[in-house]
Amino acid sequence: MHHTSFPLVAWTPQGLFCKAGGFYIDPHRAVDLAIVTHAHSDHARRGSKKYITVNSGIGLLKTRLGKNISVEGYDYGEQFQLGDVIVSLHSAGHILGSAQVRIQRGSEVWVASGDYKRDRDPSCEPFESVKCDTFITEATFGTPKYTWKKNLEHGEMIYDWWMDSRAKGKNCVLFGYSLGKAQRILAELAHLAPQPILIHSTIAALTECYREQGRKLAPTMELEEKIKMLIFDQRLEGELILAPPSIFKERWSVQLGNYETAFASGWMQGGGNGFSRGGYDRGFVMSDHADWNDLNQTIEESGARRVYVQHRNGVLVRHLKNKGLDAFPVEDLIPEKYTEAGGYNLRLI
Ligand SMILES: [Zn+2]
Ligand SMILES: [Zn+2]
Repeated sequence: MHHTSFPLVAWTPQGLFCKAGGFYIDPHRAVDLAIVTHAHSDHARRGSKKYITVNSGIGLLKTRLGKNISVEGYDYGEQFQLGDVIVSLHSAGHILGSAQVRIQRGSEVWVASGDYKRDRDPSCEPFESVKCDTFITEATFGTPKYTWKKNLEHGEMIYDWWMDSRAKGKNCVLFGYSLGKAQRILAELAHLAPQPILIHSTIAALTECYREQGRKLAPTMELEEKIKMLIFDQRLEGELILAPPSIFKERWSVQLGNYETAFASGWMQGGGNGFSRGGYDRGFVMSDHADWNDLNQTIEESGARRVYVQHRNGVLVRHLKNKGLDAFPVEDLIPEKYTEAGGYNLRLI
């Protein structure tokens, strides 16, 4: 064991950096080489010279960053060499083409998780557990109060809500992120939807990327197109609409007629009764992230003895320390704080 003070993956102002491989993971700023775990905007940013991502996520990345970006794709599990390290990308189960990044130098293996979830999701590849020595984990829902029921029949729950409202001549307006959540809802409803689901134009191109990758989604129609087809003071009736909350500021929003609203998110858990949070009529606890139990299960399955936790999550760090693991906030991955022995700097002794 060599006691170098530079970690295989370091925390820098640009984001996670693998010096031995000459690349960043989800950099916050433009860099030469960026491995992008998935196309959400807090992970995929413009301006880098070259991107690496999973093949099934290339379409989404180009839709988000521009079709002229330089991007190299790999299949899940495919190994490739960058500098002195061997890299492979493994399914994170978060959205289509989302990846955990496995980095190997000699016998040393690190995994940076990106965002991940273990819940069933027909719109993307299932989560894969990857063994490693050091695991850098996300922790969006890293407190015990975020623990939800697994594998709920979200499709049927949304379908029932839609049919109830439709019988009353109302529309259902369902909010969720335009990338990932919207397509997951469409996949859950693929075999249930009795008519096309109306999607806001901001969701349309991303949704097409899913279809191009062979994902089975419910039929859709652009909301704005449908609105244009209405005559005089005609209103929408009995529709299921996937859209961002900003639609209520649109000039034509009066044509939405009578509607109920719902939000699909992990944040619907924990806080009040889970429903009618933030003024919505309904809430669907539907997360793209691991809950407390799944974070812990994933860390355990990784076999990692050392864990770095993102999102400034002190609760999870303390919990892991109590279980006997070497656990730190990811901000400790700066050379000054890092030694291979643990969380203090031997050079200072
Ligand atoms: Zn994400
Ligand atoms: Zn994220």
